[in-house]
Amino acid sequence: MTILFLILAVFLILLALFLLRKGSRQRQAAGLPAGQVVYEDTSQWCKNETPLYDSMLRLTGKPDYLVNVGGIPIPVEVKSGRAPATPYPGHIYQLAAYCLLIARTTGKRPPYGIIHYSNRTFSIDFTDAMEEELLNLLAEMRACEKRTNVDRSHKDAARCAHCGYRSACEQRL
Ligand code: SF4
Repeated sequence: MTILFLILAVFLILLALFLLRKGSRQRQAAGLPAGQVVYEDTSQWCKNETPLYDSMLRLTGKPDYLVNVGGIPIPVEVKSGRAPATPYPGHIYQLAAYCLLIARTTGKRPPYGIIHYSNRTFSIDFTDAMEEELLNLLAEMRACEKRTNVDRSHKDAARCAHCGYRSACEQRL
């Protein structure tokens, strides 16, 4: 019986390692960092009321908080839900957009941004690769703007349930 438990334990460990590697590879293929769990002193966070706007990118956004680290504003995005194992791609892109907007509007490039979930906080590096990934995504979105028909890109019924275009959308779930 002990040997059986031992074999099962080894199998579970190998399975966990495989899934961890698989998840990490998929994220790397998408150019997205996994993020690093950090402890953050929230007393240093300043509520941000000012939207950031860049006319060249035609992009606007308002980080929930900014924290000054050595004279550089670091964006903080607060999510009310519990943290996934690694931040959702949509949350990472949103944070990257804030980093880029800060760089463009202040001339100071944040080396990272922060996503704060209700139970965990992640630091996400804003690398050159991340910026390129974001710019590619924006270009793709701009190209889609010109199309009259754009297919739904997800199977998330909850997302459709909260969508402002729901009543007019023929592809709603
Ligand atoms: S309702 Fe339509 S536009 Fe809104 S999220 Fe769903 S598919 Fe997208």
